[in-house]
Amino acid sequence: MRILIVEDDLLLGEALSAGLRQLGHVVDWFGDGTQANAALAGTTFDAVVLDLGLPGGDGLHWLARWRNAGITVPMLILTARDGAAHSITGLDSGADDYLIKPITVDELAARLRAVLRRTSGRAQSVWQHGALEYNPATKAVLWQGKSIDLTGRELALLEALLKHPQRVLSKAHLQEKLYDWNSAEPESNTLEVHVHHLRRKIAPSIVRTLRGVGYALGSGEAEP
Ligand code: CA
Repeated sequence: MRILIVEDDLLLGEALSAGLRQLGHVVDWFGDGTQANAALAGTTFDAVVLDLGLPGGDGLHWLARWRNAGITVPMLILTARDGAAHSITGLDSGADDYLIKPITVDELAARLRAVLRRTSGRAQSVWQHGALEYNPATKAVLWQGKSIDLTGRELALLEALLKHPQRVLSKAHLQEKLYDWNSAEPESNTLEVHVHHLRRKIAPSIVRTLRGVGYALGSGEAEP
């Protein structure tokens, strides 16, 4: 998942970004709403983690503004313990969930998974696509019941494809899911290399190429 964190507390922002990255997510972290606003305008995120106590403008203000602008990305808000009343206002303003500080990375990751499950309409915690099974919590991938070992970027790519099984995803969209803004500019063929690895490790038909357009999730049927 590509996650946007808006948190002005340096220690917390650093800890959450590092922790979520370690769990295989791509994370962009900003210390104020203005920068986050610019990031949201140009990038498709899977979830936003928004602190309500931000410099130069309250998180609630940004939340309301983004929802009014029609931005539907799932948003999870963070508040200080004495700000519980703000969490209620936040939910009313369009947040999907809230966490009261102090929080741990594991707790945040679990709540993010729950929010994404709800917003994507998936009741199951394991995603099934034919003979392919993916558990976003453990990152375990099974093909015909056999465990498949994937790298972090291969997992991010597979997850992006599984999230929209009916859609063709452009190379630009997929690249956004694999690299944050601090990553070195990806080599132009890197995405192709990851696709190649997914086909080799799972099955050649698992990813479809639509020449000049992008990629789509392929067949989940095991080949004889
Ligand atoms: Ca803060």
